Amino acid sequence: MPLLKSWVASANDANHPFPLNNLPYGVFSVDGDDPRCGVAIGDLILDMQTAEEAGLVQLSDAPLFDVPYWNDVMEEGPAVWAALRERLTALLAEGAAEKDKVKPHLVAQADAELHMPFAVSEYTDFYAGKNHAFNVGTMFRGPENALPPNWLHIPIGYNGRASSVVVSGTDVRRPWGQLKGANDDKPRWAPCARFDIELEMGAIVGTPSDGPITVQEADDHIFGYVLLNDWSARDIQAWEYQPLGPFQAKAAATSISPWIVTKPALEPFRCSTPEREVELLEHLKDCGPMLYDIDLEVTMAPTGREATTIVRTNYKEMYYSAAQQLAHHTTSGCPMNAGDLLGSGTISGPVKESRGSLLELSWGGKEPLTLDTGEERSFIADGDTLTLKGAAKGDGYTIGFGDCTGTVLPALEDPYAR
Ligand code: MN
Repeated sequence: MPLLKSWVASANDANHPFPLNNLPYGVFSVDGDDPRCGVAIGDLILDMQTAEEAGLVQLSDAPLFDVPYWNDVMEEGPAVWAALRERLTALLAEGAAEKDKVKPHLVAQADAELHMPFAVSEYTDFYAGKNHAFNVGTMFRGPENALPPNWLHIPIGYNGRASSVVVSGTDVRRPWGQLKGANDDKPRWAPCARFDIELEMGAIVGTPSDGPITVQEADDHIFGYVLLNDWSARDIQAWEYQPLGPFQAKAAATSISPWIVTKPALEPFRCSTPEREVELLEHLKDCGPMLYDIDLEVTMAPTGREATTIVRTNYKEMYYSAAQQLAHHTTSGCPMNAGDLLGSGTISGPVKESRGSLLELSWGGKEPLTLDTGEERSFIADGDTLTLKGAAKGDGYTIGFGDCTGTVLPALEDPYAR
């Protein structure tokens, strides 16, 4: 599919993240007004609340855009999702008859503040990138026991906290926690000294389910995708993770990019999971290409200094698709809701610069990175800004995600000091 031309000129640049082919969904405010739903087109945002009030978009008997989140649209189901996309495409396409009626509802992205695009119902994080699991397993348990015996049969996950998910641009506070050094007998109470990123994609469930669903049904239920940074306190994690998995190490914050890129925008970039190393049980088998070819990057910038690109990888490095993760999530009968967020797991490629966490990049702190500024890093220093970027490259156009960024603030004074 080529570039779809829009009468919004900035949307027609081959490298612009928000062409008419994309139409990602966010929530914005201008000048401290109440946040409302918007759609990015080029450098502008279409205000869905006023566009609906003006009768330009009518998809349901009740208004869908009188609330500052996209969950109501998700709950309407795939027929309404498709009708909305078709209507937006018609309103914003080159030569649109209603161009003059649409213009008053556009605002500059430069003037807008972006908010959480949806209310996160629940948040689950997986561990479904094989290079990442192998690297981390090698560091924690040695190469012979790197992949646990279940790894090639199920996408391993844990139930995270919806309350800790924040939108890009939100500062992240370095947590305190219980830490144990390699040779000490006793744990100590201290600020995390090994604060890290995890480069992930987040899949957003749009269609609720109440019982086991197939991989194909799961793919149909997904509304869209965001970039996701699963901030991780490695020293807290190393002490607490056995036997029930991560807990406080992952609870400080999880950042997501501000625009939901919907499945139709990503359709041309579908690709298959890698060849299976062991045959999956029937209910998890691949049934079509359900990963996406999306280039991913991470940059790191010390306070007031230029950013260095520290990771370059691709979403297609995952071993399990989001559809397989969602299907697995429902096998017990676990109900899923519109707005459920599923983290993919850290996306690491096969070579060093494609590793999606500092834990892997610095190999547990043994091989510090040298930034372009000359500074060395094994983990995140106070004041560092970490930014995830994602883009799928089409024929004369780009599907961008909008950056997922966060600056790490120093730990507070000991919260338990008397
Ligand atoms: Mn993670």
